[in-house]
Amino acid sequence: MMSTFIALLESQAVSFVLAAATICALSAGLMVHLLQKAEAAPRARRIRWLLGAAFAAGLGVWTTHFMAMLGYRTDLILGYDFGTTLVSAGIAVLAVGLPFALSTLPSGRWLRGVLGAASGLGIGVMHITGMAALEGCAQRQSLLANGLACLWGAALLALLRVLPRGRHPYGVPCLLIVLAVCGVHFISLAGTVLEGQHIDRMLPNIQLSLSILTAAGAAILILGAFLALVATRRFEAQETAHLTVLATALQNMSNGILKISRTGTIELYNQRLCGMLGLAPADMFVGMRLDRFLQATGDANGWDADRVARVVRNHWLWLAKAEETRVEHHFEDGRILSIACQPVETGAVLTYDDVTRDRRAQEEISHLAYHDPLTGLCNRRGLSERMLASHRSQEPSTLLLLDLDRFKSVNDTFGHSVGDQLLVAVAARLRGHLGPEGFIARHGGDELAILAPGDGAFGEALAQRIVAEIERPYALDSVTVVIGCSIGVCSARDSTGPDDLMQRADIALYEAKRRGRGQAMSYQPGMIEAIAERGHLENDLRAALAQQQFHLVYQPILSLADDRIVSYEALIRWNHPHRGLVSPAEFIPLAEDNGSIVPIGRWVLEQACREAARWPADQHLAVNVSAVQLRSPRLLSHVTDALARSGLPAHRLELELTETALVEDGRQIAHVLRSLRQLGIRIAMDDFGTGYSSLAHLRDLPLDRIKIDRSFVAAALSDRQSLAVIKAVTQMGRDMGIATLAEGVETPDQLALLRAIGCDAVQGYLIGRPASVVQGRAPGELDRAA
Ligand code: C2E
Ligand code: MG
Ligand code: MG
Repeated sequence: MMSTFIALLESQAVSFVLAAATICALSAGLMVHLLQKAEAAPRARRIRWLLGAAFAAGLGVWTTHFMAMLGYRTDLILGYDFGTTLVSAGIAVLAVGLPFALSTLPSGRWLRGVLGAASGLGIGVMHITGMAALEGCAQRQSLLANGLACLWGAALLALLRVLPRGRHPYGVPCLLIVLAVCGVHFISLAGTVLEGQHIDRMLPNIQLSLSILTAAGAAILILGAFLALVATRRFEAQETAHLTVLATALQNMSNGILKISRTGTIELYNQRLCGMLGLAPADMFVGMRLDRFLQATGDANGWDADRVARVVRNHWLWLAKAEETRVEHHFEDGRILSIACQPVETGAVLTYDDVTRDRRAQEEISHLAYHDPLTGLCNRRGLSERMLASHRSQEPSTLLLLDLDRFKSVNDTFGHSVGDQLLVAVAARLRGHLGPEGFIARHGGDELAILAPGDGAFGEALAQRIVAEIERPYALDSVTVVIGCSIGVCSARDSTGPDDLMQRADIALYEAKRRGRGQAMSYQPGMIEAIAERGHLENDLRAALAQQQFHLVYQPILSLADDRIVSYEALIRWNHPHRGLVSPAEFIPLAEDNGSIVPIGRWVLEQACREAARWPADQHLAVNVSAVQLRSPRLLSHVTDALARSGLPAHRLELELTETALVEDGRQIAHVLRSLRQLGIRIAMDDFGTGYSSLAHLRDLPLDRIKIDRSFVAAALSDRQSLAVIKAVTQMGRDMGIATLAEGVETPDQLALLRAIGCDAVQGYLIGRPASVVQGRAPGELDRAA
């Protein structure tokens, strides 16, 4: 074998062998280059690169073979069959170039190896075909040598395709290709014996046809290489420009971006993403595995192993989906990232958006929509939703509706800023009392609601505690105030739904207020009926005036200075056709609510003035005027009309106003009162001590009389506080020049006490019950039947 090789070497012209090896190395380099381009090219353009590579590979092998053949057996006159030579070129492209180019496509190493081996075999086939083109000689081929040559080629190119890509992307592949091609050629030639006509040493060795073909092959190869390189350069320049633009855009995006391959390898990301996830630039790199990247993110954000595992699992789930996934990730430091995972052909693109500020703004807007800005409590809307949620959960709960007693008086007396402070203080007190368990809402000016867990006796006990809690004095910035509250209670199980629950608690609250405020009432069956009853009464009330169902009674007032009846208070009575006598305490609030108090009050004024005009000139008349009447711009004309029509002198008329009516709109009311007083009419403050009694009212309002409420008189003999109030008011009235009158005197002891204290006048059943006027009689002769 060795001697055969030595003979082979001797039969070769070294210059042609070197030229052949150079062309082989050149075409190998070109081939590797084109294949790399093919691998990196998008699928649509890949086929062009593969065809180029197949062509370069085939032509390179073919040219190498014939270049080497030019230097083979230069001692013989050899010719080449043109057709067979061309066929060998075709075989080179199809059997060598094509399988070699295609071997880049499969992802499996073994399939790539098989295709590599096929192209190695192709070199052998091309060599044998090329040798078959030889003319002018007899040749003997060795089956063994040809077999070995084919094996050699197949083994080397298979090895090339299965080897992992190393650090020398050109060196090793080119070397293996050159070794394969040259190896096949020389191993095969080593077994080949040529016999032919020797050439005359003086004649030039002309193998014209082969030279032309070989030169053409080399030229095509070099031209192809040149064109491929130029195209590559241009393409790369364009690609670099695109990539630069892309990279600039990518790095300056406000969003973080991440491209992951199907197999979970990071292929692209931007620095914004690192910043968003708290990663240092060195923590992240292209080629990093997804799991490792998420672990690094977890480390940077203090996640425990469970959380990292959960996040990793989720990412793989998103990657497996065909449609886009959107999630929001909440970080411990309060940041919220919105993550969109969009599947693409080669994996998935994840975009990260920091939505913390948006979410905060949304939270703030929704907080404003559901909360009262003054107290921070929930508003009506928040209450409705909470009640609905509680209803759906079916858990036992109780609704408490609170109405602050005397809040309006505080507001009117001390101003709205004190009123606001009071509401804030009430809210804080309720919060403190209920703790985090209780839900509190402000659903009106001074109306609050509590939705507490539990029902039955619990709700009532809670309401009682709250009444006591609210009654404790409030030390505000400039003043200390005391208010009270009325509460309506209803448990959810006694209602059919949120609206019904609200209605029933409201009815209970109404009842609590009706019974004198400062107390809690639970909803009782029958209360709704009572409300309906009230509705009927209200309807009847509208018609009562026209149907002349009202009449007046008069209660005498005794002056203690001379023990003489000096005046009578007109009190209205309603004789209902079915119900009989209805108390004014019952129907006056209804008339105030529906506005019919204005015409009723007018009728009272006219009727009473007409009666009083017939009394002796020293007898006075007191008429009650409600707060609603006082607010009506028609009051003044009603009073003057009544006086004018009856002829009663204005100085004989006294109007009784309740304290609440007087404080409602201080300035406007003081103006009306002054106008009335200018006419000579006197003004009395009725039921003093039952409203929000402020000494400022006594100072600021033009008053002629204070009527001390009968509750103080009733308790005066047994209760020191009530006695003290009567004494203080009497003394104060005396000092301010305002007359005092004690209401509800029923016993001689009470009368003696009031006389001793120094009240100016008294009124009560002891002096005389309210009585109807019998036509044509003087007041002193009034009928005693009330
Ligand atoms: P008021 O103005 O304080 O009238 C006194 C009320 O006390 C009257 O009740 C009277 O009958 C009652 N009373 C008088 N002396 C005694 C007593 O010794 N013991 C007890 N227990 N009660 C006594 P009445 O007539 O039922 O009126 C109730 C309230 O209805 C009045 O309280 C007044 O605020 C209002 N009212 C009555 N008539 C009218 C009216 O024509 N217009 C307006 N706006 N309100 C009226
Ligand atoms: Mg009165
Ligand atoms: Mg009174």
